[in-house]
Amino acid sequence: ADAPPPVLVVDRATVRFAGLTALDGVSFTVAPGTVHALIGPNGAGKSTCFNVLSGVRRTASGSVRFGDAELTALPPHRIAALGVARTFQNIVLTRGTVADNLMLGRHTLTRAGYAATALRLPGAVREQRRHRERAREIAEFTGLGARFDTPVDLLPYGDRKRVELARALCMEPELLLLDEPVAGLNTAERAAMAETVTAVRDALGLSVLIVEHDTGLIMRIADAVTVLDFGRVIADGTPAQVRNDPAVIAAYLGT
Ligand code: ADP
Ligand code: MG
Repeated sequence: ADAPPPVLVVDRATVRFAGLTALDGVSFTVAPGTVHALIGPNGAGKSTCFNVLSGVRRTASGSVRFGDAELTALPPHRIAALGVARTFQNIVLTRGTVADNLMLGRHTLTRAGYAATALRLPGAVREQRRHRERAREIAEFTGLGARFDTPVDLLPYGDRKRVELARALCMEPELLLLDEPVAGLNTAERAAMAETVTAVRDALGLSVLIVEHDTGLIMRIADAVTVLDFGRVIADGTPAQVRNDPAVIAAYLGT
C-alpha cells in the first residue's frame, strides 16, 4: 500500500541570526502516528527548528507544511489551534494547580467567549465542565491523576515535566513537539516518560517530534531520526540507520 501522507513537511527551512545560519536548508518529513526524533550536538539548531515549527521564530526562506496549512507565516496561537502543541526545554508552567495548568491547555479549544466564561453563563459552564473532565482523563493518562488538584509549585521536577506534556496534550494536537522531555530526570523517571511518549503515539495515535539529548533513549523509542549538525541535516533514517552513520559518529565526537 502507499505510505500515508506525512503530517509535517519541512522543506529547506533557513533561519539566520546576525552572522550565523542556525538552520541552513533543513528538510525532513514526519509520518503520521510515529515518534520522530530530532537530534544533534549542542548548537545544532534543534530548538530553533522547534521555534520555527511553533511560530516563535521566522524563517528567512523555506516552507513548513502541516497537512494543507503553510505554517511559516502564522503566529504561534494559530499554529497551536491547527493542532501543533509543544513543550519547552525549560519548564514553563503557570501558578495554580495541575488542573489550572491543564485547563489553560484547553483554552485554545474553548468556544464560549471570555466574557461568557467569566460570567459563568450556562453554556459556558457546561463547556468548562467538559474541559475539566477531559483534563482529568489526560492527567490520568500522563500519570498525574493523583496530583490533579495539587499546586504545581509543590510537585517534584519529574511531575512538573509531566504537567507540561499533559498541558500540550490538552490542546488535542495532531502533532506534539517535545523539547528535551527527560532532561533532568532520574533513570526511573526517564523510563516512565519514555513509556508515556510511546503511549501518546500508540494509544492516542499522535505524531511526536522529539528533541532529546539522551540518544540511548531516542534509539529505543523513535521510529525515525533526523540528525542536525551546524544547522544542516547530516543523516535521516531509522535509529539503526543513523546510529552507524559515519557523519553522525563524527558529529558527536566533535571531529
Ligand atoms: P540546539 O537547540 O540544537 O542546541 P539552537 O537552535 O538553540 O541549538 O541554536 C542553534 C544556533 O543558533 C547556535 O549557534 C545558537 O548559538 C544560535 N542561536 C540560537 N538562538 C539565538 C538567538 N536568539 N540569537 C542568536 N543566535 C542564536
Ligand atoms: Mg536546544
